[in-house]
Amino acid sequence: ATPTSIMVGTGRGAEMGVLFRRGEALQSLRDVEVVALDKTGTLTEGRPELTDLSPAPGFSPDEVLALVAAVEARSEHPIGAALARAAEAKGLRLGVVAGFEALPGFGVAATVDGRRVEVGADRYMARLGLDVAGFAAEAAALGAEARTPLYAAIDGRLAAVIAVADPIKATTPEAIRALHGMGLRVAMITGDNRATAEAVARRLGIDEVVPEVLPEGKVAAIRRLREGGRRVAFVGDGINDAPALAEADVGLAIGTGTDVAIESAEVVLMGGDLRGVVNAIALSRATIRNIR
Ligand code: ADP
Ligand code: MG
Repeated sequence: ATPTSIMVGTGRGAEMGVLFRRGEALQSLRDVEVVALDKTGTLTEGRPELTDLSPAPGFSPDEVLALVAAVEARSEHPIGAALARAAEAKGLRLGVVAGFEALPGFGVAATVDGRRVEVGADRYMARLGLDVAGFAAEAAALGAEARTPLYAAIDGRLAAVIAVADPIKATTPEAIRALHGMGLRVAMITGDNRATAEAVARRLGIDEVVPEVLPEGKVAAIRRLREGGRRVAFVGDGINDAPALAEADVGLAIGTGTDVAIESAEVVLMGGDLRGVVNAIALSRATIRNIR
């Protein structure tokens, strides 16, 4: 590509809200075969809501929600805000929290009014030595509806299965259809559990799913997608996505995402949704075609 065509392409991108931080990305995007997408905040709004709460025998829903929300109000994860909002909407009084701890990719824990409260994924409960088998049918049903099942333990006893749902952005289905129309494979990488991730993928026609990825595992997930010499673009928004954005052949950050993601990406999508990916690849193809 000539410097002039790269300059023109970069300028057109800027007009469409696609910022090429490095001109080379305009060339490397042309050869991409797989577009890998982060789920939370990229495909979805990143603003989950509480949808379900079933307590185990001996626990009441409000008692569980109040304890869980007290802990989650301290969390930086969007799941935390969802549970805190739900308790607030019900006017529940939150107790005094001590010893808050976040375990990225697993869940959160603290003491609330002297009671030990732990909230998180099934793998977190497994780590605590708690068996969630009693909730297996319920969790499977929630996952099939694209909801994320979580578990609460109170004083070391399994107290409830809770679910949150994060709406798919209105622009996502059309963007994925367009990527398919361009002959690309679409993959999804997420920390969410397999059943939920697969339900979301099915709704959107996503070709490959890499679920249950721990925050530090996203780079390995990109490496796996790149096996066999496939050229992979990765689109993400979160702090956890930064290393994967650097590892991919091309990293694209959602412009409404975190600063760390934006700084690690070669392309920034100012529109805040996946139509920017479609525009970026179309522009790359048009620009490079003209000069080859
Ligand atoms: P993602 O960004 O895809 O949600 P994370 O690694 O942040 O991935 O989270 C993975 C999983 O860990 C969540 O789906 C949830 O089950 C659990 N988890 C993480 N943080 C919390 C939290 N604050 N409360 C409850 N569960 C959590
Ligand atoms: Mg995200």
